[in-house]
Amino acid sequence: MAVSSSTPAPPDTAGAPAPPARSARSARRVRGEGQWALGHREPLNPNERTKADDDPLNVRARIENIYAHRGFAAIDPSDLRGRFRWWGLYTQRKAGIDGGRTAVLEPHELEDEYFMLRIRIDGGQLDLDQLRTIADVSRRYGRDTADITDRQNIQLHWVRVEDMPAIWRQLEAVGLQTTEACGDCPRVVLGSPVAGVAEAEVLDPTSAVDEIVRRYVGNQDFSNLPRKFKTSISWLVDTPYETNDIALLGVDHPEHGPGFDLWVGGGLATNPMLAKRLGVWVPLAEVPDIWAGVVGIFRDYGYRRLRNRARLKFLVADWGVERFREVLEREYLGRRLLDGPPPVLPEKPIDHVGVHRQRDGRYYVGAAPVVGRTSGTQLAQLADVVAAHGSGRVRLTPYQKLLVLDVPADRTESLVTALGGIGLAARPSTWRRGTMACTGIEYCKLAIVETKARGQELVERLEERLREFDADISIHINGCPNACARTQTADIGLKGQLVVGPDGRQVEGFQVHLGGGLGMAQGQTAGFGRKVRGLKTTAEELPGYVERLARRYLAARSTGE
Ligand code: SF4
Repeated sequence: MAVSSSTPAPPDTAGAPAPPARSARSARRVRGEGQWALGHREPLNPNERTKADDDPLNVRARIENIYAHRGFAAIDPSDLRGRFRWWGLYTQRKAGIDGGRTAVLEPHELEDEYFMLRIRIDGGQLDLDQLRTIADVSRRYGRDTADITDRQNIQLHWVRVEDMPAIWRQLEAVGLQTTEACGDCPRVVLGSPVAGVAEAEVLDPTSAVDEIVRRYVGNQDFSNLPRKFKTSISWLVDTPYETNDIALLGVDHPEHGPGFDLWVGGGLATNPMLAKRLGVWVPLAEVPDIWAGVVGIFRDYGYRRLRNRARLKFLVADWGVERFREVLEREYLGRRLLDGPPPVLPEKPIDHVGVHRQRDGRYYVGAAPVVGRTSGTQLAQLADVVAAHGSGRVRLTPYQKLLVLDVPADRTESLVTALGGIGLAARPSTWRRGTMACTGIEYCKLAIVETKARGQELVERLEERLREFDADISIHINGCPNACARTQTADIGLKGQLVVGPDGRQVEGFQVHLGGGLGMAQGQTAGFGRKVRGLKTTAEELPGYVERLARRYLAARSTGE
């Protein structure tokens, strides 16, 4: 938004002479960035206006009492495209609209009368009743769709507003919810998929995750944040923690014992930034309070004026970690935090695919659908297979995979075979194991290119042509610059855009980022994939492109690499 030099001075600068002309940056500083704590409450952009007019959590009652009876056409636009998200509902992209028209059409021209419904699964933990319920909801109300997202959610499609009351009844009867699965609020809490069972885990943070969800999800104290707020809490370094607004990672303090190391301000999309360590040690019992302190800072000091500067990372970048820690201690906790050591990072990412021993002597088995795509039918089959092998627990991973826990040693091979029989590979190819894809043009209104089908085709082609490839490789396919499938953190990150095809016309394609990785893979030198200027491929040429890249890597790698 342009700021004219005649903009009236806000209250905190009253009396100061207005300079005749200002750079955009200094103008922002004088005018404020919409920080509530500094009194910058006006003007409101459309998103802030929607939240200020009515707490988005209130839309649930309107859905149940009005919209479910009167249908899609009766939905108020600010509920439809704004507040519905707080209950996990986004309108779905109308079929047949190509990516070239994404930016030029009005929202109502892009959207269908159906919804994507995100079910939040904090820590990725599901029991069999929950798994069967999701399968049933998918088949009854979602045309048998179900995608495991890279934030351990399950996303359904083709959902009608008329069916939402029945869907909530079913989900909530087994302890599942869609509350704040989207929106400017605390989203699903990422957790280690092997929390509570891993041999290497010293302290299971599940009680803290549960407490945060119980206290703060659906709580109006935090239902109006400047933007989404992403959390990761795990002992093991098996989540993409650095891309979260807050992350707590297990660490052993030499004097105080096991606890958690606090990181803040991670995020991708616009101005990507890896989370930064505050250098404090947090005991398990204090995790919920400290989490709430960080969310409080974000709510009160976060930038609300411009949507593309509203994530916590911008505040952390401007303040620096020392000031952030000081404000957290002084204004939100009223006490000093203990200094703590950094966590020990593993040499390579842990995705838990395959057969692994638990600390109780039983096993967990990790399996890979292709690019997270599953279905209600497959989830119901999975529940049967899991039950038949003496287990009652499933976990979802932030890499679009799933695990079956608590398998007796003598049943693991039978389970691997049974999973394979329903299309879930516990010993997948490198390509299937390492490839993720976001929702893409099939359902997402912001998409420019197709992702899921392309991902499936890519995996098939590479399995056919390069089955012998023996290195770990991650390929993240994104349908637009928003980086929902973490473009910048993959070995090969693909950002959907239109590119010039062989005949000179614009076609679907990708900008390529190479060599990304997180701290878990690269020690303390975590970095983003390099966007190589001019390195683009059409979607059609993608399998050949990746194949050439992989062959070149095989030919050029050094011994042991
Ligand atoms: Fe949609 Fe873009 Fe996110 Fe993919 S990256 S899900 S296309 S917003």
